[in-house]
Amino acid sequence: MQNTKPKELLIIIPAYNEEQNILEVLKDLKAPEIMEIADVLVINDASSDATNRIVKNAGFTLISNIFNLGYGSAIQLGYKYAIRRKYKYVIQMDADGQHDICNIRKLYDRLRTPNREGKYPDIVLGSRFMDGSSEFEVSAAKQFAYMLFRFLIKLFTGRRIADPTTGLQGLSSRAVLYYSKYGRFDDRYPDANMIILMLLVGYRVEEMPAVMHNRVAGESMHSGLKPIIYMVRMVFSILAVVFRIKILQKKAGEKRDVIFY
Ligand code: UDP
Ligand code: MG
Repeated sequence: MQNTKPKELLIIIPAYNEEQNILEVLKDLKAPEIMEIADVLVINDASSDATNRIVKNAGFTLISNIFNLGYGSAIQLGYKYAIRRKYKYVIQMDADGQHDICNIRKLYDRLRTPNREGKYPDIVLGSRFMDGSSEFEVSAAKQFAYMLFRFLIKLFTGRRIADPTTGLQGLSSRAVLYYSKYGRFDDRYPDANMIILMLLVGYRVEEMPAVMHNRVAGESMHSGLKPIIYMVRMVFSILAVVFRIKILQKKAGEKRDVIFY
């Protein structure tokens, strides 16, 4: 469902077994105000349900993984596509209907708005927890994890980020290029660790209120007790990022890459 006029914005949507949700999302994306400004790419992360067929039938551009590689890898494939096709901006969103389409225009406008020094943001986080965000329910385990991530971001970067795990983000091509390179992006769980990395290496990260909904069908990759294991893993990943940038890089006196394994 792509218009022929070249667009500077690509919306990337990783999807894994989202047959119950994705059609609604795609229908919303067909709104003329979105189609006028953006191309859409769905990355089907080896779904075993009808996700692939639904996306194809709806006429959207689709890349399919042969194996389920996980959220991080799927989204990184979208970054690589965006670089290949020379898009200036990327907006990433979930296929489960959590990220309301009304956020697209706001993120896109924000990406193109310079700050007082005339600099443009590299990353705009769509936040669930700011004045102006919609109501969003989260479990106690997740609330605790968010609190911890906020604390670590503040501790290591001095920045207050209200929603450290939001999947709804707008990115400049500079940030997309950085993320698209081998080893610079946590291809399993890119989250607060990536926000800290990008702030430490000097990228401009901004946050704005967003409208989000709770997932209605299918299962979140963070369901049940997974948030606890996730939290522990994320803390280690954050410490590894900080160690590499603040200690190894400083010692080496040079710009070193952060390699995620
Ligand atoms: N996803 C994916 N591969 C996976 C797991 C999830 O591409 O192995 C997709 C999923 O379909 C969704 C997005 O990544 O569009 C985020 O996943 P989810 O909504 O489960 O995470 P949450 O929003 O609960 O953090
Ligand atoms: Mg989701």
